[in-house]
Amino acid sequence: MRCPYCGYEDSRVLDSRPVGEGNAIRRRRECPRCERRFTTYERVESPPLMVIKRDGRREPFDRSKILAGLLKARGKRPIPLDALESLVAEVERVVRNRGEAEVSSSLIGELVMERLRSLDEVAYVRFASEYRRFADADGIVEEVARLRAQKAREELLRRQIPLLPMGENETDHHGEEGKGDGRRT
Ligand SMILES: [Zn+2]
Repeated sequence: MRCPYCGYEDSRVLDSRPVGEGNAIRRRRECPRCERRFTTYERVESPPLMVIKRDGRREPFDRSKILAGLLKARGKRPIPLDALESLVAEVERVVRNRGEAEVSSSLIGELVMERLRSLDEVAYVRFASEYRRFADADGIVEEVARLRAQKAREELLRRQIPLLPMGENETDHHGEEGKGDGRRT
């Protein structure tokens, strides 16, 4: 590490210690040329991981959200908090090791359920049913959006039909258009 004072390209490490929950190391260094001391920090680089939700929205990966879901599923089951925390850490590790910047919420759900199942059957069932309920709710939202789009298409089609020259409708329509459009536009 280059000395910030004299620019000498080497330094001697006097002391190293972990800081910030062990995800960084602080090093005290001394320049062998000017003998001045300085500090460097070494951190693990964790690139941002985004979660793609079912509706296509994205949000940053959030460990505490998964843990909250697990705590709810745990209820009064005798599962130590440690076990749930390491389950979440394990899922995060698996997801990050894929090396992708984005992960679907359904994959996270599957990974969590897979592990919870071997931990506690009851908590697993609770988590899974809650998870499926949300999945169903998202399915309903999608269905509503699909129906709305369909209705809009039909509406558009209905409005276009009178423009087509078709017998009596034609005269009626032109009559209305003559009155209406002239003033409005
Ligand atoms: Zn120096």
